[in-house]
Amino acid sequence: MADQKFTETLYQGWQADYRCDEVYFDSATDHQRLVIFKNPIFGRMMMLDGVTQTTEADEFIYHEMLAHVPILAHGDAKKVLIIGGGDGGMLREVLRHTSVELCTMVEIDPSVVELSKQYLPNHSAGAFDDPRTHLVFDDGAAFVKNPPHTYDVMIVDSTDPIGPGEVLFQDTFYANARRCLNPGGILVTQNGVPFMQPDELKNTVTHLKHLFADASCYLATIPTYVGGPMAMGWATDNAELRHIDLDVLDARFKSAEIKTRYYAPAVHKAAFALPGYVSDNVG
Ligand code: SAM
Repeated sequence: MADQKFTETLYQGWQADYRCDEVYFDSATDHQRLVIFKNPIFGRMMMLDGVTQTTEADEFIYHEMLAHVPILAHGDAKKVLIIGGGDGGMLREVLRHTSVELCTMVEIDPSVVELSKQYLPNHSAGAFDDPRTHLVFDDGAAFVKNPPHTYDVMIVDSTDPIGPGEVLFQDTFYANARRCLNPGGILVTQNGVPFMQPDELKNTVTHLKHLFADASCYLATIPTYVGGPMAMGWATDNAELRHIDLDVLDARFKSAEIKTRYYAPAVHKAAFALPGYVSDNVG
């Protein structure tokens, strides 16, 4: 088994091989090819259509930064919407906030949820059984056309704009997403690695700037999303929220009583300090 490997195929002209020590699942679901296997460095990891989604070793960075930055910036998030997020890691982090009363998670592929529960149990860590969880199996692009609630924070934890994820990067989706938000609500998006996928980020932020008073991105470095820091799209009609004071974040993080391994208020603030090659891209 040691000579088996899975290749990261997201980028034309660049591949990476992950050694596979054990395969837990490798088959096509109704929506995508799903593989869960064990790598000696990153632990159990999932690929969808040949693209690395999440690993036991570094998932905490991505999930902490895409969940706690908007929730702590908002300050009073009671209803949260996750689009995608099938592995359950985002749901786990959102529900660590006792202020959250409802978290709706809209995942297109039930197999991702079922297999993640089985082979990546530490990702959801029981979050799917939390009474605040409202799990919907649907296309996120369809759900936002007629949502049952409006939300304070919306997190697009999707795949890249290929296959089922493609619709989640289009202007109609963003326009409908905006209508899912309460006044002063915040939308954040998984937006790829800007050094490797500059057009993906530019496309999203350009759409968001047309729809919201304030749109930009923030950065976090996740080892298995290769090519430098990953961008997380940011949009809200309350432009002050992107520049929230450190002492306010400190107080909110302290009262949230959440133990993290990457997120911290100072890291939150620093994440919005964009290097030129990114700020030039988002304008
Ligand atoms: N952390 C990963 C990343 O940054 O690429 C995302 C992980 S999560 C597994 C991505 C999820 O988005 C998958 O479970 C996939 O099935 C789901 N997804 C893709 N397109 C979707 C759509 N149109 N509606 C809802 N969920 C979708």
